Amino acid sequence: MIIGRLKDKKEILKMLEGSKKIFIMGCSECATTCKSGGEEEVRKIGEFLIKNDKEVVGKFVSEPPCIEAKAKLSIVKNRKEIKEADTILVLACGLGVQVVDVSLREKKKVISGTDTLFAGAVFGKAQKFVEFCSLCGECLLDKTSAICPYTRCSKGLLNGPCGGSKDGKCEVDREKDCAWILIYKKLKEQGQEAKLLEIIPPKDFSKKIKPFTLEL
Ligand code: SF4
Ligand code: SF4
Repeated sequence: MIIGRLKDKKEILKMLEGSKKIFIMGCSECATTCKSGGEEEVRKIGEFLIKNDKEVVGKFVSEPPCIEAKAKLSIVKNRKEIKEADTILVLACGLGVQVVDVSLREKKKVISGTDTLFAGAVFGKAQKFVEFCSLCGECLLDKTSAICPYTRCSKGLLNGPCGGSKDGKCEVDREKDCAWILIYKKLKEQGQEAKLLEIIPPKDFSKKIKPFTLEL
């Protein structure tokens, strides 16, 4: 899922300088799970804006607004309030914010109330989110026993450790496991250490030209 963090309220207020009538749109999926744009966040931001002399003309937690059809449906369901608003504050990932923007019939100021951070794996009861994949477009997990060094090694090293690891922890952040120690242990358990001798070539970033599009 896409992990985001709600921006500081004061920052949101600053971004809304010049805006008077605000419609707030959250997201029922990722932003709800990581508490950056679910019912509670939408309600609290709404209350905060009202206290700070903004008029909140409506608020709605949309089904994932990163999907055009869902964003459009939410816009239709709230068309009266959205028509009245001069600004749409979206509490969703950067995808959701931009899809809402392009889905609006009438052009409005669209503002993101969150910072989108990473594609994250979810652990426990959605209490811990970990970046396991950087969406690089050229997966090498077959060579590293399903542990991504590009993402989980602080230096993104593709061909073995930097030498700074201590007690299995990373020299950049002693709280984190060294990805290459994890890879080594796992390959050893599987009797696959020979894979460590294979040189992994530098990533071919030409395979992931931005903005990437895929049509089926
Ligand atoms: S190599 Fe790592 S970053 Fe690239 S696709 Fe695979 S898991 Fe994701
Ligand atoms: S200690 Fe391990 S995880 Fe940290 S930068 Fe070096 S190789 Fe990467």
